[in-house]
Amino acid sequence: LRIAAHPRLYDALSEPPMLNGAQCAACGHVSFPPVLLGCEICGATGDELAPTALAAAGQVHSLAEVYVHPSAAELPFTVAEIVLDAGPLIRAMLDPQSDSVQIGDRVVGAWQVTGIDGSGSAVVEPVFVAEMASNTAGPSSDSPTGGQR
Ligand SMILES: [Zn+2]
Repeated sequence: LRIAAHPRLYDALSEPPMLNGAQCAACGHVSFPPVLLGCEICGATGDELAPTALAAAGQVHSLAEVYVHPSAAELPFTVAEIVLDAGPLIRAMLDPQSDSVQIGDRVVGAWQVTGIDGSGSAVVEPVFVAEMASNTAGPSSDSPTGGQR
């Protein structure tokens, strides 16, 4: 069994990871973290705002190496700003193994176990890894496999 470190933000039982966003029925705006009080764009409230699951997949917008953090288990780690396919720009950790990710790359979510709770369940957080080459859909401008970059 998996338990979310931040249950409001994602569903730990989804595979692959899905993020808990909210979509505005009036203007279509998608927010993450989920904004259910009022749409950031058009101000719609209440029933217009519906929780929606967002695929943890998108494109790297920026990268920042973090060398000092009060509660990090491993340093340094890399925080990426990622534009989700669903629209929102989110901030998330990259998988520590995934140090070849560059700005503009496609990334997808994967579960990282950050601890074990009192009942033996794995506590997980989504981290982002480079999208597998087998999954080459999308308007990427990459050169063909084996080509020079
Ligand atoms: Zn709206």
